[in-house]
Amino acid sequence: MKVPYPVFFCTLFLIAACTKKGTTPVTPLPPLTVAEFSLVSNNGNCIDYYVQGVYAAGVALDANNKVYLRVNVTVPGKYSVVTTTMHGVYFADSGIFTTTGIQNVVLKGNGTIEMAGLKVFPVTAGNSSCSFEIIIIGDPSPDDDNDHMLFGNLSNAADIADSVNNYLMRKTYYSVSYSRDRGIPNWVSWHLYSNDLGNAARQNDFRPDNTLPAGWYQVPSNAYSGSGFDRGHNLPSADRTITTAANSATFLMTNMIPQAPDNNQQTWASMEDSLRRLVSAGNELYVMMGNYGAGGTGDNGYATTIHNGQVTVPAFIWKVAVVLPNGNNDTSRVTVNTRMIAVLVPNINSVNTNWKNYRTSIDVIENATGYDLLKRLPVSLQGVVEGKVDNL
Ligand code: MN
Ligand code: MN
Repeated sequence: MKVPYPVFFCTLFLIAACTKKGTTPVTPLPPLTVAEFSLVSNNGNCIDYYVQGVYAAGVALDANNKVYLRVNVTVPGKYSVVTTTMHGVYFADSGIFTTTGIQNVVLKGNGTIEMAGLKVFPVTAGNSSCSFEIIIIGDPSPDDDNDHMLFGNLSNAADIADSVNNYLMRKTYYSVSYSRDRGIPNWVSWHLYSNDLGNAARQNDFRPDNTLPAGWYQVPSNAYSGSGFDRGHNLPSADRTITTAANSATFLMTNMIPQAPDNNQQTWASMEDSLRRLVSAGNELYVMMGNYGAGGTGDNGYATTIHNGQVTVPAFIWKVAVVLPNGNNDTSRVTVNTRMIAVLVPNINSVNTNWKNYRTSIDVIENATGYDLLKRLPVSLQGVVEGKVDNL
């Protein structure tokens, strides 16, 4: 039997759309009751609220930016909850409560937040009101040449104590995103050029970083003793030999990760030497080193943490270097042909000593970490340079 084309088409593909054209009359629903409910709060604070998504100054909110609030529904029905517009944004939700009792509303964010900092958002519904807080992170990396974060704040680290596992430390000789709970940096980034290299002796003054927020555990200099892992510098000691102070700054424990000794002393050390040779050859470098995961294999075997669980042993270690001939206006000099060296190495002793065997693309590191490296570059340029693998 020949099936009429429109029927066939609708049946297979467009049932929902095509039924609109059907002849079944639509019975209007009775108007819904308006719900009666109140926000659950204590002393003006919304209770058990949960903020989802990343909030950064100057970045438009999207579907990931949600705030979950508790409400107590006494009469089911339709509802609408909207915050006033504060700091350039508002949050809103509407829908239908089908039951009474404590439940969530999920407010979706709209707009672009203007300023970084800890912001308070009041919300009113009927006779009840409460407020919730959101940490708005800034992007403190300036466009100044030779800034340690010239190519951007890759993880949106914030220099406020609430940012416990992505805490930004902008130091004189390097910048750090630190994780309090892991007891190690997420990443360290620095500029490296001929003015950093001199004759200062290796200071070896490993020490806790007393610039961490009050109350945070300061990993002590002996935390790695007997663990089978080296105190692996992120910013290498030999990259800061212009003064004693510069060299000493690399020995803060916030610049260290537990690194498998053969990885640190062979593979990693030879890569660091190669990068410094590029400086001697007339280049300046922007270098980022980071890590992710838990579980490495050092001299005493496998471990996910050391020092009574207070220091995480990362599973993977990565490094990215942007190589530019000495000059000015550095971000504007990057082209599709700029040399970018990216490596990703497992944190194990049985690594190949040739670091070149571990070269990868920046995209691989971005996908593994969720970071956006080189975000100060135009997106189209990132799309090209981040996909390449160095082969020089
Ligand atoms: Mn990319
Ligand atoms: Mn990127």
